[in-house]
Amino acid sequence: MKTFAMIKPSCIVYSTEVEAAIIAAGLRIETSAEVRFTREMSEEFYAEHKGKPFFEGLVAMISSAPVRVYCLSGENAIQVWRDLIGPTNPNKGKEDQLRRKYADAEAYAAGSPDNGFHGSANPEDAEREIDLMRKWQFL
Ligand code: ATP
Ligand code: MG
Repeated sequence: MKTFAMIKPSCIVYSTEVEAAIIAAGLRIETSAEVRFTREMSEEFYAEHKGKPFFEGLVAMISSAPVRVYCLSGENAIQVWRDLIGPTNPNKGKEDQLRRKYADAEAYAAGSPDNGFHGSANPEDAEREIDLMRKWQFL
């Protein structure tokens, strides 16, 4: 099984630690790249959230600086990566989950959309997101 993972701009400095956690969890890094999303790419990537109050801030944040994208594989990869990063709100994660460990929890609590990491929610989303990366020649 494959999944799509992304380190958002604020957490890209932790790429080495994050990759160690990926390997330790038994996943395989198939491909990886440091890339920059345009505003249009961010809007397409997050199209499901269009109209939500955090959409504009989310699109601005993702396109503000480079991100690191990954195609990961392994048994149950979607759930394994989502368990590694933890819940959407970093403050609600367990201590060793990546969003809790590396994202700016105070900023998120104050309304920032930046929780440091993304992971596909299900196999259809994983396929769609990996296909987008191929279309943009990022992966
Ligand atoms: P992701 O899709 O990035 O892995 P997720 O599936 O946990 O995260 P979604 O509900 O899909 O969460 O939201 C997508 C992204 O939008 C979140 O990761 C976060 O960056 C931002 N976001 C979601 N809800 C909020 C909120 N209430 N306030 C601010 N930002 C939010
Ligand atoms: Mg999501």
